[in-house]
Amino acid sequence: MQTPASTTPLQTDYLVKGCGATAMAFVDVMLKETDANFIMVDKRAAPGGHWNDAYPFVRLHQPSACYGVASRTLGHGRTDSTGFNQGLLELASGYEVTDYFHQLMRDTFLASGRVSFHPMSEVMGEPEAIHSGSYAIRSLLSGETQTVQVRKRLVDATMVHTSIPLTHTRKFTVAKDVTCEPPNHLTRLAPQYKRFTLLGAGKTAIDSVSWLLANGAPPESITWVLPRDPWLINRTFFQPGLKHFEQTIGGTARQFEIFASASSVKEVCLQMEAEGSWMRLDPNVWPKMFHGATVTQLELEKLRGIKNMVRRGRVLHIDAHSMQLESGVQPCQPETLYVDCTASALQHALPIDAEQPVFEAGLVRLHMIRTYQPTFSAALIAHIEATLDDDAAKRQLCQPTHMTDTAKDYLRVMAINMRNQAAWNTLPELRSWIRACRLDGFGSTLAQMAKDDAPRREVLARLAAATAPALANLQRLTAHAESDSR
Ligand SMILES: Cc1cc2nc3c(=O)[nH]c(=O)nc-3n(C[C@H](O)[C@H](O)[C@H](O)COP(=O)(O)OP(=O)(O)OC[C@H]3O[C@@H](n4cnc5c(N)ncnc54)[C@H](O)[C@@H]3O)c2cc1C
Repeated sequence: MQTPASTTPLQTDYLVKGCGATAMAFVDVMLKETDANFIMVDKRAAPGGHWNDAYPFVRLHQPSACYGVASRTLGHGRTDSTGFNQGLLELASGYEVTDYFHQLMRDTFLASGRVSFHPMSEVMGEPEAIHSGSYAIRSLLSGETQTVQVRKRLVDATMVHTSIPLTHTRKFTVAKDVTCEPPNHLTRLAPQYKRFTLLGAGKTAIDSVSWLLANGAPPESITWVLPRDPWLINRTFFQPGLKHFEQTIGGTARQFEIFASASSVKEVCLQMEAEGSWMRLDPNVWPKMFHGATVTQLELEKLRGIKNMVRRGRVLHIDAHSMQLESGVQPCQPETLYVDCTASALQHALPIDAEQPVFEAGLVRLHMIRTYQPTFSAALIAHIEATLDDDAAKRQLCQPTHMTDTAKDYLRVMAINMRNQAAWNTLPELRSWIRACRLDGFGSTLAQMAKDDAPRREVLARLAAATAPALANLQRLTAHAESDSR
C-alpha cells in the first residue's frame, strides 16, 4: 500500500534509519556535540530495536556499566550478589534496557526539540537518494509517504542485522502436533511440559537452558541440540573498574602475548582456554563456533549438568516421534516443548563489503568499529562525524569489523580492532574522548589508576609491548585459507 507523498517536505540534517541501540548511541553524542537536528524512523513501535521483542529473561551479556549511550548511566553500578553472575557487575534485564531507551527518547531526545521520531515507518528512496538527499518516510499502517529533504546525511543504523527468535523465519519444519516456540513463550508454557528440547548453540539457547535450570527443571528433562559447540568467553575477563584490573587489563595483556607467540589458531584457543579466558561446554568436544557469547564459570558448571546433548548438525524437521538432523535421526519423547533458539542474533558470517565504508558522501553506516561493542562504536563514529571534516580522514579511523563465526574470525577482527585503536591513539583529543566515554570499559579503569601504581603500570607496559608483535602474528595466523582451529 502506498499513497502519494504529502506536499510539504520535512527538512532535517540527519535522517536516521532504525531506532535501535546503535541509532540512539549515535544521536546521543551528536546532540551534545553539534547543533544538528534528526529525524529517526523505525519499523517498530518504540525505540530500542530488537530489545522490544526480546524474551522475558534476557539480560545483557556485558556489564550495564558500559552499554547504552554515552550521556546516560544504565543500571546502578552494583555487583550481583546472587545467581550465575554473582561477584560480577550487574547485567541489565531486557525490561531495563527497553525502559532506558524509552526514557532517553522521551526525556532527552524529544525534549531537546531537535529530534522527531517516526515509529511504524520505513525509510525509502535508497540508494538513489543518497546523492539528492531526497528520501521518503512511509507509514507501515496507512501507506502514506512524506518526503524528507536531508541536508547532511542518511544514518544507516541497521548494519548489525539483528535476527531474533520471535521475528526470524525458521529454516526447519515442524509437524502440526509438535509445539515449537521462541523462548519468549517459554516462561508461560514451561509448566505444561515434562521435557524441553533446546535448538541452537548460541547465547539465546544458553540463556534458555540456564533459565530452566534456575527455575527447577531437572537437567535430565532437557535435551540440547548443538549444531556446533561454541567457544565461550569468561565474563570475569570483561569487567570495567580498577577492582577487576588484573582480569580485564591483565587478561588483555596475556591475550596479546598469546596472539604474539602462538604458532596456529588452535594453539591460541588452547592457550586462551588454559588462561581461563575461553571455555567450552565439553572438554572432549572441540568448538567450531565463536559468536562471542559470555558466561561465568558458575553458569558453565550448571550447563555441563545437561547430559542429553545432540550433536548431529542442524535440525531439519521435527515430528512427534523424531527429529531429522543434518546427520541422522534422533528419536523424541512425547510431552516435549521445543524451544527455537536458532535465530542468528547478529549476522555472524556477514563479510564487510569494502565498498561499504562507515563514511561516504551523504551517508554514515553504523558498522561496529570495535568488535562486540555496537553502542561504543556508534558513539565514537558520532564523535568523529562531529569533530572532523574530511571523509577520507574519518574513514582512516573507522575500519569496520564484522561479527565472528569461528575462532579464526575472532583473530581477524582483533587485528582490525588493533589497527583502529592505533589510529585513534594518534589523535590526543580522540584518545581523551574515548578514555572519558562510559561505553569504553578500559578508559574508566585507566582513569581510576594512580600515576605511581607501578605493578599496574607494568601490566600496561606488557600490553603495549605485545601489541605490534600480536598484530603481525595475527595477520600471519589468519592469512591461510584452510579452516581454523582443527
Ligand atoms: C539477546 C541479545 C543480547 C545482546 N546483548 C548484548 C550486550 O550485552 N552487549 C552488546 O554490546 N550487545 C548485545 N547484543 C547485541 C545487540 O544487538 C546490540 O547491542 C544492539 O542492540 C543492536 O542494535 P542496533 O540498533 O544495531 O540493531 P536493532 O536493535 O536490530 O535495531 C535496528 C532497527 O532498525 C529498524 N529498521 C530496519 N530496517 C529499517 C528501515 N528500512 N526503515 C526503518 N527502520 C528500519 C528495525 O526495525 C530495528 O528496530 C545483544 C543481542 C541480542 C540479540
